[in-house]
Amino acid sequence: MTAADPNCLFCKIVAGQLPADRVYEDESVLAFKDIHPQAPFHCLVIPKVHVATLNDFSADQGALLGELLLTAKHIAAEQGLPGYRVAMNVNREGGQVVFHAHLHVLGGRPLKGALG
Ligand code: AMP
Ligand code: ZN
Repeated sequence: MTAADPNCLFCKIVAGQLPADRVYEDESVLAFKDIHPQAPFHCLVIPKVHVATLNDFSADQGALLGELLLTAKHIAAEQGLPGYRVAMNVNREGGQVVFHAHLHVLGGRPLKGALG
């Protein structure tokens, strides 16, 4: 199992060492508002354990990956979003800046445009 990384921003949020506007939390998943929202609603859904990128999930962490997506669905319903976008950046070349894997959940206005 992947332990917390003491140098990781999002592990510090999980541990409560850094503030975050939390929108959902359970045993294995945490969701909080993005500090630089790119839509009226923009939150991040992360595993509580440190996993750097999508590529670092092991085969036996499939359930955890599924939970991230189900959490996105749950939050979207709770927020009353009729449609929304879920995105995950992988590695620098994929636009990833924070190396603790996370889903972006965006909504609150009609979303258009290219993804890449
Ligand atoms: P990514 O480019 O996929 O790694 O996205 C990282 C996201 O984390 C960006 O949208 C940032 O605005 C967001 N972010 C960085 N630091 C924080 C923080 N302390 N609290 C909430 N969101 C953050
Ligand atoms: Zn981390």
